[in-house]
Amino acid sequence: MVVVGAGFGGLTMAAELKRAGVENFLILEEGPEVGGVWRENTYPGCSCYVPAHLYSFAFAPYRDAHVGYAGQQAILTYMREVTDRNGLRPHLRCDTAVVAADYSDTDRIWTLTTTTGELIRTDAVVWALGQLHRPAIPRLRGTQTFGGPAFHSARWDHTADLSGQIAVVGTGSPAAQMIPELARGRGRCDRVSAFPVPGTAQARRVVRSAVTVGADVCARPARPLPGGALPRR
Ligand SMILES: Cc1cc2nc3c(=O)[nH]c(=O)nc-3n(C[C@H](O)[C@H](O)[C@H](O)COP(=O)(O)OP(=O)(O)OC[C@H]3O[C@@H](n4cnc5c(N)ncnc54)[C@H](O)[C@@H]3O)c2cc1C
Repeated sequence: MVVVGAGFGGLTMAAELKRAGVENFLILEEGPEVGGVWRENTYPGCSCYVPAHLYSFAFAPYRDAHVGYAGQQAILTYMREVTDRNGLRPHLRCDTAVVAADYSDTDRIWTLTTTTGELIRTDAVVWALGQLHRPAIPRLRGTQTFGGPAFHSARWDHTADLSGQIAVVGTGSPAAQMIPELARGRGRCDRVSAFPVPGTAQARRVVRSAVTVGADVCARPARPLPGGALPRR
C-alpha cells in the first residue's frame, strides 16, 4: 500500500495502518520532510488559529499548558516527533513526488511513477495531497514590472530587504497573522499597508487588526478581475 503526502492527512493514515498491524506500506512525499503546509509556510506570525490541544492527532494529543495557539515551528516539531514516535520514518521517502498513476484492470494493480524514475506497484493508493501547500498567485496588473521583492506568504523570502514600506494583499488568516507581526517590526519594515478584498467579515476583522497595530489600510482595495487583471484607477 502507498500513502502519497506526509501532511496531517498522510501521517494520520500511516499511523493508523501501523496501529492496525499493517507494515507493508510506503509514504511518498515530494518535499524534503514531513509537515505539508506547516513545512511550506514560514511567514512572520504563522500559527494555528485553533487551540493547540484541538489541532492535533487523535492518537497523539498535543498537551502543553504553556501553549494556547501553537506556532508553525512548534507544529512542525510536533509532526516530526509523531513521525518518529510512531515508527513511520522507515516507511517514509522524501523528495519523491508521484507524477503518474496507472491502474491495470487485468492485474488490479496500481503502478506509480515517481520523480526519481522509480516505478512502484501497489494494491492500493491513498492520496493525501492536501490543497493549500501550493500557493495560488493571482495575475495582477503591474507584477511583471514591479521592481521590489514580491512573494507569496507560503514562499516567504527571509532574505528580502523589507525595510521601508510593505503591502500585504489579501484577507485570509495569513494576512491577519502577519500584519501585526510586520507592524511590530518582526519583518524589519517601517510601514505596513493592507489591501483587503472587501465585503467579508474576515476582511473587516483584518482591517480592524491592521488599524489597531498602526498599519495603513488602502481605501480602494485591490480586487483582481475575473481575467486576473486589476481594475483601472
Ligand atoms: C498557513 C495555513 C494555516 C492553517 N491553519 C489551520 C488551522 O489553524 N486550523 C485548521 O484546521 N487548518 C489549518 N490549515 C489548513 C491545513 O491545510 C490543514 O489543517 C492540514 O494541515 C492539511 O493537511 P493535509 O495532509 O491534508 O495537506 P498538506 O498539509 O497540504 O499535505 C499534503 C502533502 O502532500 C505532498 N504532496 C502533494 N502532491 C504530492 C505528490 N504528487 N507526490 C508526493 N507528495 C505530494 C505535499 O508536499 C504535502 O507535504 C492551515 C493551512 C495553511 C496553509
